[in-house]
Amino acid sequence: TEEKSISFVEQLIEEDLAAGKNGGRIQTRFPPEPNGYLHIGHAKAICMDFGVAEKYNGVCNLRFDDTNPSKENNEYVENILHDISWLGFKWGNIYYASDYFEKLWDFAIWMIENNHAYVDEQSAEEIAKQKGTPTTPGTDSPYRNRPIEESLQLFKQMNTPEAKEGSMVLRAKLDMANPNMHFRDPIMYRIIHTPHHRTGTKWNCYPMYDFAHGQSDYFEGVTHSICTLEFVPHRPLYNLFIDFLKEKDGSADVLDDNRPRQIEFNRLNLTYNVMSKRKLHTLVDEKFVSGWDDPRMPTLCGMRRRGYSPESIRNFIDSIGYTKFDALNDMALLEAAVREDLNKKATRVSAVLDPVKLVITNYPEDQTEDMDAIDNPEDENSTTHKITFSKNLWIERADFMEDAPKKFFRMTPGKEVRLKNAYIVMCTGCTKDENGNIIEIQAEYDPESKSGMSGANRKVKGTLHWVSADHCKPAEVREYDRLFSVENPSADERDFHELLNQNSLKINKNCFVEDYAATKKAGEYLQFQRTGYFMADLDSTPEHLIFNKTVGLKDTWAK
Ligand code: ATP
Ligand code: MG
Ligand code: MG
Repeated sequence: TEEKSISFVEQLIEEDLAAGKNGGRIQTRFPPEPNGYLHIGHAKAICMDFGVAEKYNGVCNLRFDDTNPSKENNEYVENILHDISWLGFKWGNIYYASDYFEKLWDFAIWMIENNHAYVDEQSAEEIAKQKGTPTTPGTDSPYRNRPIEESLQLFKQMNTPEAKEGSMVLRAKLDMANPNMHFRDPIMYRIIHTPHHRTGTKWNCYPMYDFAHGQSDYFEGVTHSICTLEFVPHRPLYNLFIDFLKEKDGSADVLDDNRPRQIEFNRLNLTYNVMSKRKLHTLVDEKFVSGWDDPRMPTLCGMRRRGYSPESIRNFIDSIGYTKFDALNDMALLEAAVREDLNKKATRVSAVLDPVKLVITNYPEDQTEDMDAIDNPEDENSTTHKITFSKNLWIERADFMEDAPKKFFRMTPGKEVRLKNAYIVMCTGCTKDENGNIIEIQAEYDPESKSGMSGANRKVKGTLHWVSADHCKPAEVREYDRLFSVENPSADERDFHELLNQNSLKINKNCFVEDYAATKKAGEYLQFQRTGYFMADLDSTPEHLIFNKTVGLKDTWAK
């Protein structure tokens, strides 16, 4: 294994450390807005934020950027905590932007008093119309030069229960001609009457994300504020607000500039999927998926339910790396990382997903044998479990052919195959119904060919999996395909509903799993031999077993 080169983010951090910035202290944060569940894109940010803190003996805190009560709630907060722990990271403190509402309010008042902010009574549409374009200047609001006293009084009114949502906003008085659109008098506060998940009905107006995010980092003493590329144009705005804050607090000329250093990296985007929380919300609300944790969703809870391991997600993120260019990441790469990790972890069991009966005609009717099945051949110290063999078995329909071509190394009359962990059998024929469908296959076993006996050593090309008809359980198996039918739905002009893959879920209620597999619960990694990786679903019960297909096998043995 070769030494991995460090990311450009780590390079910048090492430069700061070498220069003695912040006295060698490293403090990062992961700042989710609690308005949805975490997806694999967030995991990329988490791996970075927590990863560098770990690597440079720093701390990574969590901060919930909860500035919009109309979309946020505590259920999201709790699930975010759970998902981060599941990924294997430990945070320092948990902060909330709402902890700073008082401070931000005082700062906003100072901004008005110092002629850096004003209350605008225009509608959102009017304000948008005056924004201009990146190449043409915007138009001043008619309220831009209203008296400071008037703005102060109206701002206080904005924070009363009587204030009408949308009737007024507080805007920073910056530069309506700035080529950076974020400087064209950005909105600082708006009126919202939905109760806040933490502050209840205490506030009636709330800071915008852009008037809270940068200052929150600053209040907490974040040294490196790492985020995604779309925040590049926000960086000078955050810096300007911090300049004003320093002026307010009389620390403008302090030489040691302790402001956070913002570093931006590229977002994770997955082929055949979307990462926008708004679109994921729509999939859930319109019931195209069963919920945020539907196994097709790119959410961490969905991937967990499907059977992805946290290590496979982290390895995938490590393999795609961090750059300054947005890209589309191949879903197949993620699946390869899942396979690689589950190959090491998954317990091998037998399951027949398209069953046809196999009768061992020379095996005694009332006899059974418990065979040893190795749990994981990748592990030299692997444990084993028992799988029961008997006269009546189930095998896969596709493992039999009546008139087989020469290269068919599965079951066909007159040829031998090995039954995994059991005997070599010779197929003798099959029985059909009146429509010509095969309803039963017959074979004779060689009693000297049991695994471990000398007769087992002769060369037989095919090895098949099976379950004993009286020692298995019926199960439902859910197979998943891509959520979208186009590679890059976010770049497609059509409405995203039209791009959904209508066949992304296949339910197969006609499966049999060996008894041992039926004891496995959600959270336990399984391989159905020769088929793929699977995990019991959260809704699986002993009476109604349900397994999710995590991912297929790339290399199947003896196929
Ligand atoms: P929305 O879809 O509503 O825009 P968001 O992505 O902004 O949601 P946040 O909760 O604000 O969601 O994100 C928290 C952090 O996760 C941010 O710092 C953001 O940069 C990062 N993040 C979000 N999506 C991705 C992604 N696809 N790849 C990498 N980082 C991401
Ligand atoms: Mg956001
Ligand atoms: Mg976003």
